Amino acid sequence: MNQTMAQLHGRRAGLAHAPEPGTPLLLHACCGPCSLEPVKLLRAEGFEPTICWTNPNIQPVSEWERRLKTLRAWAGEVAHVNVIVAGDDRAAWERACAPAGFDRERRCRACYALRLAEACRVAAERGFTYVSTTLVVSPYQLFEACGEVLAALAPRYGLTPVWRDFRPHYAEATRESRELGMYRQNYCGCRFSAAEAALERHAARDERKRAKAAARSARA
Ligand code: SF4
Repeated sequence: MNQTMAQLHGRRAGLAHAPEPGTPLLLHACCGPCSLEPVKLLRAEGFEPTICWTNPNIQPVSEWERRLKTLRAWAGEVAHVNVIVAGDDRAAWERACAPAGFDRERRCRACYALRLAEACRVAAERGFTYVSTTLVVSPYQLFEACGEVLAALAPRYGLTPVWRDFRPHYAEATRESRELGMYRQNYCGCRFSAAEAALERHAARDERKRAKAAARSARA
């Protein structure tokens, strides 16, 4: 763990006291399914999350609409959590992230920075003290990079980052979101991630075919 992450975790442990029940926290959310566990867990700690949607990375726009609709339905009907729809500057995403192309580390860092900066801006503007994100529920995200970005950004806006490792709750989030009949996307959001995910699915399918063929010839 590098120094920034160590500081971030230290800050978590060092929250001098547990938050008073109902302490407001702005929670950047990437989608509905990834919000289930963070909202529950943060509430259990004493925070009361307000969700902030700012995801100009999601392509195409119809997909962006579908994910937001799913999030809003769950937030309103199930979780009873407020949702702020913040800025979604697609041109800024193209300028800051797209040039990295298939260099995933560089592209995703820039993408986290764009979204979390907007979430921090909204949090500061609305008087929040604490900020967090659902981004790292998924084990497919770059956990350390995301934490570093949040740790660097939050203090610039006078905020305290609330950084939690939500990854162990991914399986539960998957199960629960299926039970609730929520739409679950099969790629992170941008066109590059859609291509990467499709390639991974094809590779996995080819591998299964190879394994079956090998088993058949072993039996012959
Ligand atoms: S893979 Fe996800 S986090 Fe990375 S750039 Fe694409 S949308 Fe952003």
